[in-house]
Amino acid sequence: MKSLASELARRREDHLYRVRRVSDTAQGPEQRINGKSLLSFCSNDYLGLANHPEVVAALQRGAEQYGVGSGSAHLVNGHSTAHHALEEELAEFCGRDRALLFSTGYMANQGVIAALLGRSDTVYQDRLNHASLIDGGLLSRARFKRYAHADVVALKGQLDAQDRGEALVATDGVFSMDGDIAPLPEMAAICRDRGAWLMVDDAHGIGVLGERGEGSLGHFNLGQEDVPILMGTLGKGIGTFGAFVAGPDELIETLIQQARAYIFTTATPPAVAEATRASLRLVQQERWRREHLNSLIRQFRQGAAQLGLPLMASQTPIQPILAGSSEQALAWSQMLEAQGILVTAIRPPTVPEGSARLRITFSASHTEQQVNRLLGALEQLATAGAA
Ligand SMILES: *Cc1c(COP(=O)(O)O)cnc(C)c1O
Repeated sequence: MKSLASELARRREDHLYRVRRVSDTAQGPEQRINGKSLLSFCSNDYLGLANHPEVVAALQRGAEQYGVGSGSAHLVNGHSTAHHALEEELAEFCGRDRALLFSTGYMANQGVIAALLGRSDTVYQDRLNHASLIDGGLLSRARFKRYAHADVVALKGQLDAQDRGEALVATDGVFSMDGDIAPLPEMAAICRDRGAWLMVDDAHGIGVLGERGEGSLGHFNLGQEDVPILMGTLGKGIGTFGAFVAGPDELIETLIQQARAYIFTTATPPAVAEATRASLRLVQQERWRREHLNSLIRQFRQGAAQLGLPLMASQTPIQPILAGSSEQALAWSQMLEAQGILVTAIRPPTVPEGSARLRITFSASHTEQQVNRLLGALEQLATAGAA
């Protein structure tokens, strides 16, 4: 048996050790974490809905009506009116035939890829795809090909070389650690031409991009015919919990019959579905949340450029600052924390070796003053010669 202690010690030496912070407060800019008040810039609650009073009230009403536990899987007796209504509303929201709820995005990605592909098929993935897509691809046992980040020419070459079986191309819509948007129109054209499935994981686009928050497909005006498989998560921009897959009727029916990550797990609490329904209404009605968020992003990018910070090419609320080594990323994160600001350091294997970073994220609940405070703290990093 190998020594776990020495493995843990090695992680510590390599600046890769992870520790959990304990928060006493709801999501929001001001959090009390490990007993200390911090201004946080690392949540995925992009629209500030995770603690919205209407969403909280919907959860409470849902619990009064349905209790807490769903009792069983969707295919036994755990599928409630609340789940069913939410699925219909999600389908409508993204302009697709149907939507199917999954317990988490991680499971949705596994469920879809394994349901559609087998050993003689091939899955194609962007190198920077989220770990859940990668794991889903590996679990499906299909042949696995990775192409260079956002490289449609490389993808085309790989698809042309496939000699048998089905092809499925899976990509993040908005890349989770970089914030850039995948070249979806080009990818959709290539996939349509080659008869390959295209699957977009829009965990960071849903709620944030598009006129009504319909995500990166709305941003590019792409429909179900262009991108048949859309996976969205509910725990980020939507502010609640869970995930969904939306697309053509036969896709959803196939997932109900075959996706093991759908079939063999307990349905999420119906009250959470009620909370998500309330949140989904706010996402669509309160356009000011996206407008304010975009103005904060512009403010930050202008300020950071003036400080000479190494910004990445991102128009989304994910605004990473590249540090390089894990040690540097950790040191920056600690310097910010000393000034009362929480931005966690993102290190391998979450990002490739040598590209550790601060992953700064914004939310519609941040104020202009708070963004200025962040810029002030980053200025000190810059003048300390760190950046
Ligand atoms: C967070 C995330 C997931 C996983 O979703 P969960 O609901 O948190 O399991 C999947 N894909 C991407 C790109 C993500 O960022």
